[in-house]
Amino acid sequence: MAHTLIADVIREETLLIGGEWVPGNGGEIEVENPATEETIGVAYKASADDAEAGILAAQAAFPRWAATPVGERVALLRRLGAVIRDRADRFAEIIHREQGSPPALARKLHVDVPLAVIDQTADALDSFEFTRQIGHSLVVREPVGVVAAITPWNLPLHQVVVKVVPSLAAGATVVHKPAELTPLTAFELARAISDAGFPPGTFNLVPGSGKDIGSLLTRHAAVDHVSFTGSTPVGAQVAAAAAQTIKKVTLELGGKSASVILADVDDELLTKAVKVTVANCYLNAGQTCTALSRLIVPADRLSEVEQVAIAAASKYAPGERLGPLISATHRMKVLEYTEGARSTGGRRIDTFDQSALPDRGYYARPAVFSDVDPKSDLAQDEIFGPVLSILAADDDQHAIDLANDSMFGLGGAVWALSEQSALQTARQIRTGQIDINGAAFNARAPFGGYKRSGLGREIGDFGIEDVLEIKSVQR
Ligand code: ADP
Repeated sequence: MAHTLIADVIREETLLIGGEWVPGNGGEIEVENPATEETIGVAYKASADDAEAGILAAQAAFPRWAATPVGERVALLRRLGAVIRDRADRFAEIIHREQGSPPALARKLHVDVPLAVIDQTADALDSFEFTRQIGHSLVVREPVGVVAAITPWNLPLHQVVVKVVPSLAAGATVVHKPAELTPLTAFELARAISDAGFPPGTFNLVPGSGKDIGSLLTRHAAVDHVSFTGSTPVGAQVAAAAAQTIKKVTLELGGKSASVILADVDDELLTKAVKVTVANCYLNAGQTCTALSRLIVPADRLSEVEQVAIAAASKYAPGERLGPLISATHRMKVLEYTEGARSTGGRRIDTFDQSALPDRGYYARPAVFSDVDPKSDLAQDEIFGPVLSILAADDDQHAIDLANDSMFGLGGAVWALSEQSALQTARQIRTGQIDINGAAFNARAPFGGYKRSGLGREIGDFGIEDVLEIKSVQR
């Protein structure tokens, strides 16, 4: 009974700083439900002084937390998993309301996936090798210090968990600035971290705008590492600001991932490939950085692919299977690519009835373009909406070249009957992830991008490694 879980309008007036819930002095954020356009929450922001207090609390908590035995940190991570699992319905309901995802997706994608990440991080920490002997040197991995986590709105729990949990696992302390559009999930997570029993100051919540609080975190001398997820232009600004004090940075930025169907596929695998690609592209209304937004197919199979894609896309009714886009502004941007000036790079083939869009909410009709010009905006830009571009390749090498014809390098997929050519192709595509024949997400495998999709890796052993310094002790 969703409505009994949370108030109609949630009020979050206090921030978590140094283990205390203190009033936020930076004004209010009104949170809107993008599916209904109603106000569903009010969250208080941190002032610059509050953010400063959060950073100093993290700095003060660092020495003790860094020295806490690994076994205790593992136990606390497992407690955090248990607390979130207990409150999973509540998390899913908040995410459904502030981010717009349909209820089933809010639970499966937005809550169950980060829960798996927490479990896997605890396992990774349990067996992590913090020391290594190289000749007469003992090489020691030590936590980096204070990590500033700056996160986006598209996956309001997962994007936070993949930064905060490996940082806490490593023995670093954290200051978190969530996206302004989705702060309510961040407050709920802060409560779970506090209730799980993490020591005061190990995790601090300082909501606010990117311009004020985000940039303060990236410039502050007491922050040692900035972990940012968001757009590539803002990522570049974050890295430039962090460079002034030589902070380490982890950047998870945009993507334009390709799903590549090789020439050897039979009808069955081709059908599966197209259906899975459409589902992946439209997941979270297309608002995932790994969305398979380009489908690259053998030219002589194009019409077959188009038929399957049109049928698959028509099942994504906005308001039912397809959630809304996050805001009116974002929908305007997506419509530029589907109805506006940037829609000219391909042939629109979907048959979805525009009149079936819900009256309220920032919904967009699911779009499929075929014969897309590889140099067009449709093929090159990260649209972050339910828009699939199909590109025709002359042969497998051309398909690989098209896949690599992107400034991004985040994810991708390969479909082939031959395991060997699938693997060879996967190795030739310059991205941080590739799924062969629909293989599932691995909550322990490193996640991150090549090229302008980012720097560093999150999740599991590599996520822990990302926030560790390395010391060589000669003896
Ligand atoms: P999106 O709008 O897709 O979430 P952005 O890249 O605009 O992507 O923002 C991602 C996160 O970065 C948000 O939390 C935002 O407030 C923050 N942010 C925006 N501008 C800056 C900045 N100049 N410095 C630090 N953080 C920023």
